[in-house]
Amino acid sequence: MTEQFAPPPSRGCSNTPVLKERGQHEVFCGLTGIIWLHRKMQDAFFLVVGSRTCAHLLQSAAGVMIFAEPRFATAILEETDLAGMADAQQELDRVVSELLARRPDIKQLFLVGSCPSEVIKLDLAKAAERMSAQFAPNVRVLSYSGSGIETTFTQGEDACLAAMVPVLPQTDARELLLVGALPDVVEEQAVGLLEAMGIGPIRVLPASRVNDEYGIGPNTLYALTQPFLTDTHEALQRRHATYIAAPFPFGEEGTTAWLRAIADQFGVSEAKFAEVTDAPRARARKAVAQASEALRGKSVFFFPDSQLEIPLARFLTRECGMEAVEVGTPFIHRAVMSSDLDLLAEGPTIAEGQDVDKQLDRCRDARPDLTVCGLGLANPLEAEGLTTKWAIELVFTPVHFYEQAGDLAGLFSRAVRRRDLLKLEAAE
Ligand code: SF4
Repeated sequence: MTEQFAPPPSRGCSNTPVLKERGQHEVFCGLTGIIWLHRKMQDAFFLVVGSRTCAHLLQSAAGVMIFAEPRFATAILEETDLAGMADAQQELDRVVSELLARRPDIKQLFLVGSCPSEVIKLDLAKAAERMSAQFAPNVRVLSYSGSGIETTFTQGEDACLAAMVPVLPQTDARELLLVGALPDVVEEQAVGLLEAMGIGPIRVLPASRVNDEYGIGPNTLYALTQPFLTDTHEALQRRHATYIAAPFPFGEEGTTAWLRAIADQFGVSEAKFAEVTDAPRARARKAVAQASEALRGKSVFFFPDSQLEIPLARFLTRECGMEAVEVGTPFIHRAVMSSDLDLLAEGPTIAEGQDVDKQLDRCRDARPDLTVCGLGLANPLEAEGLTTKWAIELVFTPVHFYEQAGDLAGLFSRAVRRRDLLKLEAAE
């Protein structure tokens, strides 16, 4: 391999003072994660213990066909539950017993907490323990919170995976664990590249079925595929597994650095690494160059939403020629984010948390060429003449690894090109 990336910046953002904001924030809640998790985990069922609002969010976000037997539902807390007049635990037992009697295909059941269940302090961990004992060995029952109180939408997946880590068996096997619920086609690409280097056995969290699961132990090496999996990272640390720190696999550079970090742990030679990665790297480089033409020299401003902001800012500045003005992200976990922060050149404001009005003022002052934000902010900002990209699309679209690098750049450049076309039409 002769071609190299731009050298790392002399000063990255690892030591940049972080603007910490703790005001009103505008994000979706963690229930959103059920939409991609239920597709990934083929024998799981997600039972949200929440309100009609939670049920509506899930149904509209997932576009559920009401006649299909889906793999998620909402146990609705009625006013009597919220007022503490009914025994919600008993009611939950009844709902779960009926569900499991009707659906023998369910092998793992997640009780998913919501804002209402948290407000009335319904102890879902206790319920899950009780039900696990009742329905073992056929069904495993776990709980996690998808509540929107002080959280962001990608934390639902993190909380779900973190809940699974303690119940995985113990092992001393030296295995690679890839952590994150990626679309199957993307996951297959990653596993294919790693296996072609001779790395294995490779496990994935979440496994598609309970029976495909494996153990965790001191010889487990794990790599995160999503930057928001920080609680899962902590849970794996408690199982004494070893974290392979790396930039996240977005774009050609991120993918290569991520693969390289894993390859180093498994003693893969430079020659073997190049043999496996040269061709897809070249394809990715070409695709990014084409897709990012409209982005070169343009500025980008990130509102905190998906927790993908820092790795994406690294990709857009280093591979697509953009300039980052502000990179806002809900939370910064140093151990997980430092490889990307090191590569992001000093300059942008790095903000953690949100005070939405103040941040909107900064964005209006900066007038960036592209603003990456949640759905709730996108329309008002578009109305003010700013070009926006919905952060949630980045989680629903395959964007990881080499073959998707061009599509990732394209997601951003389409928004910029659309705005340029509208300007042209207005001028004619
Ligand atoms: S969990 Fe909270 S934020 Fe999410 S839909 Fe339910 S009430 Fe709304």
